[in-house]
Amino acid sequence: MTEAPAEKPCRVCGRPLSAGGGKSREHVIPDWMERHFDLGKRRISYTPMESSDIAASMQLTPGAPEHLRRSHNYGSMLLGAVCQKCNNGWMSNIEGLAKADLISLIDGAPDSMAPDAVARWALKTAYIFTVATDPPVGRVPQRHMLHLRDAAGLPAGVSVFFRVDPEPEWWFSSSVTFVVEADEVAATRMRHVGMRHYRNAYRYFFRLGRLTLMVHYWPSSVDPVGYDEGLIRPLATGVPLHVWDDGHPGFGEDHILHDLAIRSTMCRVSSRVRTPSDLCWCGSGLVLGACELLKHPADTAGNWGAI
Ligand SMILES: [Zn+2]
Ligand SMILES: [Zn+2]
Repeated sequence: MTEAPAEKPCRVCGRPLSAGGGKSREHVIPDWMERHFDLGKRRISYTPMESSDIAASMQLTPGAPEHLRRSHNYGSMLLGAVCQKCNNGWMSNIEGLAKADLISLIDGAPDSMAPDAVARWALKTAYIFTVATDPPVGRVPQRHMLHLRDAAGLPAGVSVFFRVDPEPEWWFSSSVTFVVEADEVAATRMRHVGMRHYRNAYRYFFRLGRLTLMVHYWPSSVDPVGYDEGLIRPLATGVPLHVWDDGHPGFGEDHILHDLAIRSTMCRVSSRVRTPSDLCWCGSGLVLGACELLKHPADTAGNWGAI
């Protein structure tokens, strides 16, 4: 007698696929977007993120060196194991609420839009991207995806920014380099935790025609994130923001990814007093009350639920 293999879980909600009505395929790039902008035959190349170094990045641009590239048609970037209930239910609602605004933004005409709907779509897409490419750092945790199912707005610490450029391009990138300022007490604490917890930070860029979306997560809910308004503007945020300028003139449109990755935001780590429901000072991305009980786990990118 051989045992039946254990059924695979839905990569989104974690239930067995059969409990959610069976398996469906989620497109990394939604099929309505592929059709509308005729992307199906366009090839997308990317360099997979292979280093576990905090400064690793993953670029999905046409410029990656040949020997490092993996290549797909846009249309074949599929995530195979999402249950019907997730895919055709709440995930499809997120898609539907953002679609019209995305089309006008991609065409470069952002007249009126529902910023929250576009921001939630961007976070959903970043999660699907994490699961599809499986990077060692810079992962969107399942609990952030499930926040989109269970709650309004964005999870604490997540912000979504955008910019609109004159020329259309299509590329994707994940860069986990962050510019950080810490006060003295926080800097000492960070030396003790060895910065390792902050590997839970992530940042995803989606260049969709004239629109660039940046999904930005720095694991603090009390320290405001500075952003350079000459580069990006906020769509929606789960953290306080303020305008910030590093005084650098920038590298220009041809090197926009560089500017966006290195100069668009400035994150802080302070020794301000946290309440039990604030994200922990250690950078785990868990709320303080839960994180202390779990003794400040370093890697929480796969964590679930409300903690
Ligand atoms: Zn599911
Ligand atoms: Zn902690």
